[in-house]
Amino acid sequence: MYLNSKLPASGTTIFSVMSKLAAEHGALNLGQGFPGFAIDPLLGELTRHYIDKGYNQYAPMPGVPELRKAIAEKIQFLYGHAYDPAEEITVTAGATQAIYTALTALVHDGDEVMLFAPAYDSYAPGVELNGGIPVWIELEPPHYTIQWDLVKKLINHRTRVILINTPHNPTGTILKEEDLRQLANIVSGTDIIIISDEVYEHMVFDGARHESVTRYPELADRAVVVASFGKTFHVTGWKMGYAAAPAPMMAEFRKVHQFNVFSCNTPMQYALCAYMEDRTHWQGLPGFYQKKRNLFLEAVRNSAFQFTPAEGSYFQLLDYSRISAEKDTDMAVRLTREHKITAIPVSVFYPGHGPGHMLRFCFAKNDEDLLRAGEILQHI
Ligand code: PMP
Ligand code: GLN
Repeated sequence: MYLNSKLPASGTTIFSVMSKLAAEHGALNLGQGFPGFAIDPLLGELTRHYIDKGYNQYAPMPGVPELRKAIAEKIQFLYGHAYDPAEEITVTAGATQAIYTALTALVHDGDEVMLFAPAYDSYAPGVELNGGIPVWIELEPPHYTIQWDLVKKLINHRTRVILINTPHNPTGTILKEEDLRQLANIVSGTDIIIISDEVYEHMVFDGARHESVTRYPELADRAVVVASFGKTFHVTGWKMGYAAAPAPMMAEFRKVHQFNVFSCNTPMQYALCAYMEDRTHWQGLPGFYQKKRNLFLEAVRNSAFQFTPAEGSYFQLLDYSRISAEKDTDMAVRLTREHKITAIPVSVFYPGHGPGHMLRFCFAKNDEDLLRAGEILQHI
């Protein structure tokens, strides 16, 4: 039987490939981004509580109202933008689903979607499966800045979406106020929609502030903002997140959401809502992760790897060009097999898998594991 693949160029995502390899070789896995420590027992207790209380049937399609209200209050508190929880917030099965659903709802055949390379690996397939055309702009190393002049040049009447991500995976950089202002100027007077992937909103370091698009009314009015409870509360395996957008956009989003997910895990929505009542459950995150970043960087400081400290996210890029000229995909496999440490090669986040000499390490791990990683990396 002939099967006409919709994604002929795609293999298995690098996260699955490297986690499998790490497990096979008993390697310390700093590849796939997930916390290596336990969750707050209270969050587990709350979930069990709601299961025991019988909150086990379908939630309302857009999400449990109390949780949507808590999300709206949090956004208002942090960034000053008022979303109507009834019409402008939808709970999703993680941020990946929220991004995919937004693309399905908003991108038509032949529409162009501007992506910045390196980019999280679900973006381009999400665009292509929905008939869109990815238009790539490379971020400028070493600080991976956006060349706004180039963005301006490439925008045309087919540009439907610009997809931004701050703090950024995989580079660990953050957008600054000036970036958001440039973006607002460029899209002013157009019908361009912004999809803003802000899953690492609470992981911003050295006193910087997270530049959410919701801080800028002229951007929020044309944006779908995406967040992940998985990142914020160390529960990536729960696959819970949300999208926020102005009502007309959210109405289109929900038309798609109702037919590919309908609704998300009910007891966890109630548990997350109760857990969010205490702001300290997320207010300490920048400090918590900054300590981990510093510990990891201190541990690799005397190694042959070079780095620019991550400004945000829970990822640190290490440049290994003083060690080897091999391709990063080969280097990542060799480190796993020979040195028992796993990272993600950054070249896979470029269209056509460009050349590279950078590896991405996740520092959302126990301090002992970060120190062990430093020990290994110092001897390479
Ligand atoms: N966007 C980025 C930039 C990410 O790193 C991740 C991590 N998986 C996601 C989206 C997806 O988040 P989730 O696990 O909630 O689907
Ligand atoms: N966001 C995480 C990462 O970038 C994991 C994503 C995944 O496993 N799909 O590593």
